[in-house]
Amino acid sequence: MNDNQFSILGLKETIVNAIEDLGFTKPSQIQAESIPVTLGGFDLIGQAQTGTGKTAAYGCPIINNITKSEGIKALILAPTRELAVQVNEELKRLSKYEKTVVLPVYGGESIDRQIKALKRNNVDIVVGTPGRVLDLTKRKILQLEKVEFLVLDEADEMLNMGFIEDIETIISHTPEERQTLLFSATMPQAIAKLAKNYMKSDAKHVAIKKNSLTVSKIEQNYFMINNKHRLEALCRLLDLDSPTSAIIFCRTKRGVDELVEELQSKGYIVEGMHGDMTQVHRLTTLNKFKSGSLNLLIATDVAARGIDVEGITHVINYDLPQDVESYVHRIGRTGRADKSGTAYSLVTPKDFSMLKQIQKVTKSTITQKPVPTAEEIHGKKFNGMLSEIKETIDKGDFSKFMPSAIELNENYDPISVIAALIKVKFENESTFEYSSNNLDAPAKKEDVRLFFSVGKRDGLTPKVLINYIKDTTRINGSTIGQIDLMENFSFVTVEESVSAKILNNCPGGNINKKRVNVEIANKRKR
Ligand code: ADP
Ligand code: MG
Repeated sequence: MNDNQFSILGLKETIVNAIEDLGFTKPSQIQAESIPVTLGGFDLIGQAQTGTGKTAAYGCPIINNITKSEGIKALILAPTRELAVQVNEELKRLSKYEKTVVLPVYGGESIDRQIKALKRNNVDIVVGTPGRVLDLTKRKILQLEKVEFLVLDEADEMLNMGFIEDIETIISHTPEERQTLLFSATMPQAIAKLAKNYMKSDAKHVAIKKNSLTVSKIEQNYFMINNKHRLEALCRLLDLDSPTSAIIFCRTKRGVDELVEELQSKGYIVEGMHGDMTQVHRLTTLNKFKSGSLNLLIATDVAARGIDVEGITHVINYDLPQDVESYVHRIGRTGRADKSGTAYSLVTPKDFSMLKQIQKVTKSTITQKPVPTAEEIHGKKFNGMLSEIKETIDKGDFSKFMPSAIELNENYDPISVIAALIKVKFENESTFEYSSNNLDAPAKKEDVRLFFSVGKRDGLTPKVLINYIKDTTRINGSTIGQIDLMENFSFVTVEESVSAKILNNCPGGNINKKRVNVEIANKRKR
């Protein structure tokens, strides 16, 4: 049996293997709670934030239970073309060993191509936007009478976009005994009504509280550096934290080889892992890492995909990955099974937009930290050494060394002896010659646009808003830029350096009795 944690949810091995290939090792909360329910045949109402893995939450059980015969067996409705494309891609990957045929249909693309694809009669799952699905249904090209699964993905969004009637008409073309799965970030009245009218009365509810993103237990930090300081910054982090179990990611195989060599030449015990190494070599390395005899592993994204190691304390992005998905995969290696973890990213000013993109998509905060200074590292090591000495004194099992101590005491002043011993021990531990300068590179000043859930209708004025922000965060007013007040909400542009503070401190209060919520403004067009 596969030891991937998805296998206990009751999914077929083929699907668990596909999940494994995607690099998922642990189900997210919504997946863990909803997959067994859906596999059991129940209707499901799932509520969870973006980025919590809802696609696989419904995709896996559908692919698992779908009947393989002619006709569309599952229809997934999503609000936008982009989302339909994304869902289509994820379902394709999840069903790769099942050979399920998935077809995306959406407006803005030639309907003829979609008609041709449907007429091949081999499609099992259709993912589409309500408008195009309805169009194809009315033309009798898309036949829904064999549908076993209907998914309303991002239902609240679809209702906001005015798709309710289209959706109701589409539903009326599907069989009543279908299984209906509805996912929504929020549960307004209209959604409850939709659920009541079109779902079975024994439908199960799964609600995941906010902030249970797959990455939420992980403390995420970044260090702004210039490229030439990358290696030293990494060494300083390793020296400060002395991680018990860290994966360091490089973008390329060559990058892995080079970093392994550089670190080894500086006396660090590290090994690399990438696709050009033999399977035996990779397994040996992985086993050392798993057993704890190797603390630092350097790997490419691909090589790390299958790695399932308990208790990884640090994920370090020596290079930032090229896409957000890889970032989530990488840092998902730590903070597993309710343990907390640390993720560090070395970021150059050039990488900054990628970093912002990652924060936006994962809706998480990655906090900038200064690269540890030589004094900081020495101070920490020194304190560690002192407590080690004190502990040894408390334990008292050093009788073997007493004769030497007595001898030294006869010939020298004891204070000098102690100081000399400390010097020898400490110099042994500090192998790295730090360049004494501060390694932090100034970030390009970038502004962040924030969404506030309070608007003119709530009596908001720029002054009220600025005062509220200043009161809750104590930031300098000069970091606040343009303010756009709308009826129901507003946008505030602020300096990047204060955005995390605002996002952390401003939500939850009230302005003129209206509850304040703040998010990074979404530039994505829907
Ligand atoms: P949602 O629909 O809730 O917004 P998605 O289904 O789009 O979330 O998933 C967000 C990202 O997380 C995707 O890149 C997906 O591949 C990834 N993902 C999903 N489940 C897991 C998991 N169990 N472990 C790691 N990554 C996951
Ligand atoms: Mg989704």
